[in-house]
Amino acid sequence: MADIKFVADVMVGKLARWLRVLGFDVAYSNAIGDDEIIRLATSENRIVLTRDRRLTTRCRDVPCLPIDSDDYKEQISQVLSAFGLKEFNVFSRCLECNTPLQQVDKDSVFERVPPFIYLTQDRFATCPTCSRVYWHGTHAVEMLKRIPVRIED
Ligand SMILES: [Zn+2]
Repeated sequence: MADIKFVADVMVGKLARWLRVLGFDVAYSNAIGDDEIIRLATSENRIVLTRDRRLTTRCRDVPCLPIDSDDYKEQISQVLSAFGLKEFNVFSRCLECNTPLQQVDKDSVFERVPPFIYLTQDRFATCPTCSRVYWHGTHAVEMLKRIPVRIED
């Protein structure tokens, strides 16, 4: 997967989350301000994703993709086609804090997931930063059907 990295403004939070689902590194929080976005774009070589025209005009020295639609599915399509992104590493990154997930043994999550999940799933991963547990199950597959992206599993 390409080393492309993004920073998203508060108006495209759903897009940011979906890009993380696909495995992309997206800096985002619902409290992030314009100055912080510019700073992250500069210091970490991130591409700014924004629907804020005022922020777009401040992006003269950093790469910026102004997002057109307010529909998250169209936003995903716009980002993927703008950068020619076709390879994804789905569910490899924490949706909450953007940290790459670590695959873990099923036994190690026994006390941290609902019994039904433990019994029916085999692939688990945890976030080293916020300790959330993820599993790649039917929920994940159903989620991916909602977006206009073809995933080879
Ligand atoms: Zn996390």
